[in-house]
Amino acid sequence: MPTLIKNGTVITAADSVQADILIEDERVVLIGLDLSSEGAQVIDAAGKLVMPGGIDVHTHLELPFGGTVSSDDFFTGHRAAAFGATTTHIDFVIQPVGGSLKEGIEAWHDKAAGKAAIDYGFHVAITDLRDDVMAEIPSVVDEGITSLKLFMAYKGLFQVDDTTLFRAMQVAEEHGLLVMVHAENGDVIADLTARLLEEGKTAPKYHAAAHPAMAEAEATGRAVAFSGISGAPLYVVHVTCEEAVEQIALGRAKGFPVMGETCTQYLFIFEEDLAKPGYEGAKFVCSPPVRQPKDAGVLWKALAEGGLQAVSTDHCPFWFEGGVNGRIAGKELGREGFHQIPNGMPGIEDRMPVMWHAGVGGGRYSANRFVEIACTNPAKIFGLYPRKGTIAVGSDADIVIWDPNREHTISAATHHMNTDYNVYEGMRVRGWPEKVLLRGQVIVDGNSWLGAAGRGRFLRRKPFAEVL
Ligand SMILES: [Zn+2]
Repeated sequence: MPTLIKNGTVITAADSVQADILIEDERVVLIGLDLSSEGAQVIDAAGKLVMPGGIDVHTHLELPFGGTVSSDDFFTGHRAAAFGATTTHIDFVIQPVGGSLKEGIEAWHDKAAGKAAIDYGFHVAITDLRDDVMAEIPSVVDEGITSLKLFMAYKGLFQVDDTTLFRAMQVAEEHGLLVMVHAENGDVIADLTARLLEEGKTAPKYHAAAHPAMAEAEATGRAVAFSGISGAPLYVVHVTCEEAVEQIALGRAKGFPVMGETCTQYLFIFEEDLAKPGYEGAKFVCSPPVRQPKDAGVLWKALAEGGLQAVSTDHCPFWFEGGVNGRIAGKELGREGFHQIPNGMPGIEDRMPVMWHAGVGGGRYSANRFVEIACTNPAKIFGLYPRKGTIAVGSDADIVIWDPNREHTISAATHHMNTDYNVYEGMRVRGWPEKVLLRGQVIVDGNSWLGAAGRGRFLRRKPFAEVL
């Protein structure tokens, strides 16, 4: 049966208009005024906003890391995402050590099989760029994967040298792949980490001292320069600080095809949180680390004005108290030293509400810009637009009915992520999803889960990034 969303205000990156939306066979087929409801199931959106489902392009579900595995799988992570108005995400396939990219891709398809409840795509994170792997790069396009991630940090583990990074960017550019970089200078980090540990500085707060902002800025600038030299489009993931934003701005001012994202936590969590008493700071350990409030000010401005193109989460949850009550190991693994704390924070469920509340509610950007950085730009940059990321005739009917007046207090007691803490614990937000539709099917209705494992689909993405 067709579904008709009536009386809502439709918000896209371009417009805010009063209109009805008719959905048939999973897609939007008509947008108009006073559409007939004959033969259709009606959703009354009077007084509500109607927005595209969120797209989170940076997540790590069931990721093996630091002797354990991130605690959300493709079902629990998807269900949590949906409760937070996100209907599509792109997860990072990790090339197995000694193995091929194809083996990694197959492993990630296996993780999602039978569990996926929202739509998803993959990036491939290259961890071991041997000659045979360099030759394998073009083939990932045939797998529907059109972005690669390379690491400029994690020395002795995933880090690539400059020659390798530069070559990989050229190969990627030739075949329509977008290169994403984790931009931190891994040599500097390794040296600082060793020295801090020698001095007995093992507490979580030293994680920030080991990862200075300038080490991020230096690597960002280097990647930006490589993009300028090779012409290869570049997307810098998890930009955290003023100095790195400056490097991206410099490249963009020179006309290089450079883009960047920040992640939700860098706008709300700071170094002072890492320094919380006891071991609590471990909850907030991720790489690059959280910074200063002045950096968040720069990030908000960049999101509002176009210096950054998207906001994602880097969702990579671990239990704070893992290894008990049937839980896998978590943050407790780093009690002896900050370098052993599993890196990452939960956030896939919180992104849309907190970015709406503090962004639109806080007067930092418009509702249209919110849709642009959380839905539309991610879809465009990663080859999903206009199927995803907007509300238009022919687009998948991934739609959120958003109540701009509903208030909610975020808490681990009520969230759906598979973790025992929430980094936004106690934050009262105004604006909350009332209903969430995936390809025309209501999967979240208030507090009720109506989705199903196995209903999410793998998205084959288009090559050649749109550079925004
Ligand atoms: Zn990540």
